Amino acid sequence: MTATRTHDLAVIGGGLSATALACELGRHAGPAFRAVFFNRADLGPGTAYAPQSASLLMNGPVRAMSAVPGDDRHLAHYLVNETDDALICRARFGAYLRATSANALAQHAGLSHERAEIVDIERIDAGYRLTDERGKRHDARNVVFALGNLPPDDRFLPESVRRHPGYAGDPWTADIARFDPTADVVIIGSRLTAMDTIALLDERAFRGRVHIISRHGLLPLIEDTTVRGVDAGTLDLDTRTPYTLLRSMRAAEKRFSGDWRALAEALRPITPAIWRGWDNRERKRFLRHLQSMWAVHRYRVPPATYAAFERMNNEGRITIYRGRVVSGIARPNGITLEIQGRNGAFTLHAAYVVNCTGPNANLRTVAHPLVQNAIARGIMRPDPLALGIDANDDYRVIDAGGNSQPNLFAMGPLLRGLWYETTAVNEIRQHATAIAAALVHGDASMLHHAS
Ligand SMILES: Cc1cc2nc3c(=O)[nH]c(=O)nc-3n(C[C@H](O)[C@H](O)[C@H](O)COP(=O)(O)OP(=O)(O)OC[C@H]3O[C@@H](n4cnc5c(N)ncnc54)[C@H](O)[C@@H]3O)c2cc1C
Repeated sequence: MTATRTHDLAVIGGGLSATALACELGRHAGPAFRAVFFNRADLGPGTAYAPQSASLLMNGPVRAMSAVPGDDRHLAHYLVNETDDALICRARFGAYLRATSANALAQHAGLSHERAEIVDIERIDAGYRLTDERGKRHDARNVVFALGNLPPDDRFLPESVRRHPGYAGDPWTADIARFDPTADVVIIGSRLTAMDTIALLDERAFRGRVHIISRHGLLPLIEDTTVRGVDAGTLDLDTRTPYTLLRSMRAAEKRFSGDWRALAEALRPITPAIWRGWDNRERKRFLRHLQSMWAVHRYRVPPATYAAFERMNNEGRITIYRGRVVSGIARPNGITLEIQGRNGAFTLHAAYVVNCTGPNANLRTVAHPLVQNAIARGIMRPDPLALGIDANDDYRVIDAGGNSQPNLFAMGPLLRGLWYETTAVNEIRQHATAIAAALVHGDASMLHHAS
């Protein structure tokens, strides 16, 4: 099968990352520039903002969520009647992204959307050849990976459990409405997606019991959008290692008798610089010992979502266990999970199990054919800590031989290994600005990520 004409750019993925990039290209690319965005569904909502439930809320305020680089008020103007501190419904943000990407495509005749899933990528003389799920080929001089959040890893469960009708392996597309509202549910994980799952169950008048199993049993703090970050410069932080940082944060918290949320906010803008300052040994220490603690302070649950958890908890219908799920058994009446706890092994049985362990960042274990093929062809490799894709700080993807590829970029959650914080809207806007500059002017160095 022959490929169609060679595009200047192919963007694989169509969520917030692609939307921000489309906005930048719409404004800055010359009239002859041709870019195609691949995404099966409408451009905009992506994985994070596609679910249509009113119970699923943003965990960041309107003032911080504009998708348009350089226009911080864009979302506020679109919404008209919302306050800056409001936490809007994720479906509404998805609609905003749909409208914003459609607008970007309408403004530049060279930008287009193709409803396709890309399953393979190979190098050709002119750049890269992509193949979609129907076998159609698309050639492009430049490619951007904007794949976003990949479904959780569940290789710790046997195939028989993963295929069980009571098992929901992808919590963002799980059809919780089909759950028997009187049956028990086990949720693996205790962070934001677990809280979202409880809110969805509550919305559907669920009357059963919820068992939450997680390694540390830590719940996210509740978001308060009126809490502002203090100036990190005033905190006297010792950022040399994860432990010196933790110690100095504890001291700062006492001195300021402050709110941990304000400290987490203070750390956000300087997180990439702190991460870059650590070698891989320190980074591993952070991941092993402090990541969970950081996550519950940094990624906070909207009060309305927490209220659903609290209601069920007050009725004695939620139990939290600490431990690691090591395997499971599929049974006719549900799933039995085998768990290794601090004080020994135990089991949990329920009609339903929802895997809320978070996006799978370890590309070697991602089942998607594009990722597998790109690794097999040496076009991408995981970063040294398996947090995402290996790339340089000019967003260029590093191949299996360690070479930076001038025409292959990555953005969004895939870049976690580089700066650790790469999923928030402001970070994604920065990625879009830098990559668009590289594509349009051939220079991303002017616009490196603030670090
Ligand atoms: C459930 C959830 C809720 C979140 N809520 C918030 C929030 O409230 N506030 C916040 O700041 N951050 C939030 N985040 C963080 C989130 O990572 C970013 O805000 C943002 O959505 C990432 O955008 P993205 O486009 O990179 O990825 P995604 O939203 O994951 O979109 C990627 C898109 O690419 C498509 N795609 C992937 N592979 C291919 C392929 N091979 N071919 C074609 N298409 C492909 C996917 O189907 C998807 O549509 C949330 C994340 C999740 C998972």
